[in-house]
Amino acid sequence: MLGMTYHSALHPRLFGGVVRRWPLLFLALSAFLLVGFPGSGPMLTAEPGGYAVQVAPPGTVRSPQKEAAQEISEAERIKTIVDQQRIGGGTAQSGNDSAYALALPLVQMSEADEAPSPRQAVALAWDGEARSARIPVLMYHYLSVPPADANSYRLDLSVSPDLFAHQLESMREAGYVTVSPYDLLAHLWAGAPLPEKPVVITFDDGYRDNYTNAFPLLRERGMVATIFVVTDFMDEGRPEYLTWEMAREMWAAGFSIESHGRNHASLKNRDADYLVWQALGSLETIEYELGARPRFVSYPAGEFDAHTIAIFESANYWAGFTTIQGATHSTDNLFQLHRVRVRNTTQPEELLRLLALEW
Ligand SMILES: [Zn+2]
Repeated sequence: MLGMTYHSALHPRLFGGVVRRWPLLFLALSAFLLVGFPGSGPMLTAEPGGYAVQVAPPGTVRSPQKEAAQEISEAERIKTIVDQQRIGGGTAQSGNDSAYALALPLVQMSEADEAPSPRQAVALAWDGEARSARIPVLMYHYLSVPPADANSYRLDLSVSPDLFAHQLESMREAGYVTVSPYDLLAHLWAGAPLPEKPVVITFDDGYRDNYTNAFPLLRERGMVATIFVVTDFMDEGRPEYLTWEMAREMWAAGFSIESHGRNHASLKNRDADYLVWQALGSLETIEYELGARPRFVSYPAGEFDAHTIAIFESANYWAGFTTIQGATHSTDNLFQLHRVRVRNTTQPEELLRLLALEW
């Protein structure tokens, strides 16, 4: 169980014609020595067909990947990964023409064993059918009472634990059931069934109060949420943000931990190198820390353009969340998913009204 076993490494095609392809093999081995096996790269899922990835339990993942990677520049490292993707036959794929296999994190868990999330058990493949669905995605940031000297920005982004608890109660009483972005995608791509009243709860930025305040309130109600984290802030150990240990605990309890970029800089009007750095950098860090690969991005400050989408899609993200208000999603618009902003003034009745809106 310890260490990583990548079944794709045993793919017969990698062994066929080894002699004829020795230069390629040499390249791959060199790249391996530099950055580790590209299990963290897109190669694993570039081809359809149910790869299973065994990973160590959260918190025990050890890999020389990070240490070795520091020896070469960030740009070189990412270029190597992108090149490997090409070597491995992976190309930029859109959700419209490809089958996708969800890497299966076979993680030993305690509580989560009883209710496995679809992210752990379902091979996702788009069956080619155009679908749309109204699935409200709530957007939160801070989940705490703001300090007395808070500015208007902080105030607007804060929901108190008391109000949040009331919101959760009213949602539960009205029959809403929390689902993950993976459930949302499985529904759009493959028609997987959803609860009658699904709702996705998301938190942007990964503030520590998401763990101290929101997590217990959600967990005691059997609800889950998705946290879009800023990976550099966590790596730096900033006290206002989650630690990786907290993220691992929430992930093990069924929460999704997804990308909000490396440093919260805008992803709009950026060149390809910069966007690749943000997309792959945050993805690799989350995968390294959790043993599970993120598939969703929430654009920092809601800023993105067509180039942003193209790069994240080529890095094999599956969908992107915006701050555009609305609740209807479709297979042809997966990188511009809409959300519903929850404010510190959003009383439960108002929240239920927003959840029921046809928008
Ligand atoms: Zn943000």
